Amino acid sequence: MLFEDLGLAPEIARAVAEQGYTNPTPIQEQAIPVVMRGGDVMAAAQTGTGKTAGFTLPLLHKLSAGERARSNQVRALVLTPTRELAAQVFDNVQSYSQYLPMRHSVVFGGVKINPQMMRLRGGADILVATPGRLLDLYNQRAIKFDKLETLVLDEADRMLDMGFIHDIKKILRVLPPKRQNLLFSATFSPEIRTLAKGLVNDPVEIDVSPRNSTTKTVRQKLHPVDKSRKATLLCHLIKENGWHQALVFSRTKHGANRLAKQLEQSRIPAAAIHGNKSQNARTKALADFKSGKVQILVATDIAARGIDIDQLPQVVNFDLPNVPEDYVHRIGRTGRAGASGQAVSLVSADEAKQLWDIERLINKPIEREEIEGFEPDHQLPASGGKPGKGNQVRRGGAKPAAKRGGGNSSGNRNGNSSGGGNRGEGNRSEGNRGAGGRSEGNRNGSRADGSRGNGSRRSGAASGNGNSGGNSNGNKANAGNRRRRPQRRTESA
Ligand code: AMP
Repeated sequence: MLFEDLGLAPEIARAVAEQGYTNPTPIQEQAIPVVMRGGDVMAAAQTGTGKTAGFTLPLLHKLSAGERARSNQVRALVLTPTRELAAQVFDNVQSYSQYLPMRHSVVFGGVKINPQMMRLRGGADILVATPGRLLDLYNQRAIKFDKLETLVLDEADRMLDMGFIHDIKKILRVLPPKRQNLLFSATFSPEIRTLAKGLVNDPVEIDVSPRNSTTKTVRQKLHPVDKSRKATLLCHLIKENGWHQALVFSRTKHGANRLAKQLEQSRIPAAAIHGNKSQNARTKALADFKSGKVQILVATDIAARGIDIDQLPQVVNFDLPNVPEDYVHRIGRTGRAGASGQAVSLVSADEAKQLWDIERLINKPIEREEIEGFEPDHQLPASGGKPGKGNQVRRGGAKPAAKRGGGNSSGNRNGNSSGGGNRGEGNRSEGNRGAGGRSEGNRNGSRADGSRGNGSRRSGAASGNGNSGGNSNGNKANAGNRRRRPQRRTESA
């Protein structure tokens, strides 16, 4: 299929052509016609699938036909969990609408509210917003929803994880009940389905990503290494492999800062982004990374959410995430839109539990490779519960293969709560709100719906039972889910 077959307004088609896109991605092919005709959509799609254009293009098409937004009015509201994602969606909106006489705006916390209020006076055909700041603005009467036609919830799973459910409910209460609803989420946990039930109306369900499976074009491997030598190994890998642009994930804000400093000391240009950095600092770090001025960007999961860099060649997990789904999100940063990429994890013995959870979720073991000179003293136990994982290769060295801990959960989990335990990035709202009220963060038993095949289908309702059929390859991962404990993200040091 070609973009021109979708019948988008010529101004939009022109902007799309200028981006160099000729064929819609699967989510675009399925979502665009539905959104154009005003239908509700519930889509399982991760970042990297082209989902942003999947809702932005048809929204612009629809809105371009109607009456413009007047002062303080909003015609389409896109809610996103983070400021980075908001800024990025807004960029997309701007570039796809450059030939249309429309006005759009973006609002998020962490920056002054007054300029946002001023801009909203002119009205916004599309407003991209994070929930907290949106409510602040609404409460200060800077936004009117009387002409709202469409609501988009982008990365809804993330919003729930970050504890935005109360804000979302408050927002829903002040929107006109008759409206179009589009819900995008990487996963469809029971919580998301409950949210969806009260939100979407006879939606077309679209699923373009087999859940719990990682992008095919991403090559994944892990290097077992002692925790204390991770930073040195990272410097070694960067230099040895000539990684000119790598996104490195750190579980904590503090860890991100420390690592960026260590890299700088080794003369590797690096910057850290996380929730404690000002918006300006984050924007600058990202711009420097994109332009190549900064070679390594160290990010926490939340700050990295929404970073969109075309064809990012290299992702590194400096720590494994506590929430296994974050692994999938992390490595989704590379190998995007058909390009190939590589994701490397530095894994110490105390992270065995996180590793097993991840391997269960993605339903395959990750190839292991010890790096000569960095063989760990504390052996990383073999993949949990799956004996005979002979997938460890060694590069160069003559050291015998690591002694394994004997298959399953064995005794040598030497303290998997070291290395941060459950320290997540606490203050992950777009504003500076504390942990209060943000009690979500547990992804317990998510993805119970396993993987539905590609394709769209009409569903009677956003049914809540999560087992909507076609379960072709998610079984083991689901079994894994049952064993997962609820994870709670709490404030980091
Ligand atoms: P998203 O999933 O919305 O974050 O988009 C992922 C990336 O794919 C972005 O860099 C887009 O610019 C790019 N993209 C979106 N649609 C297309 C398309 N039809 N063809 C090629 N690339 C696309």
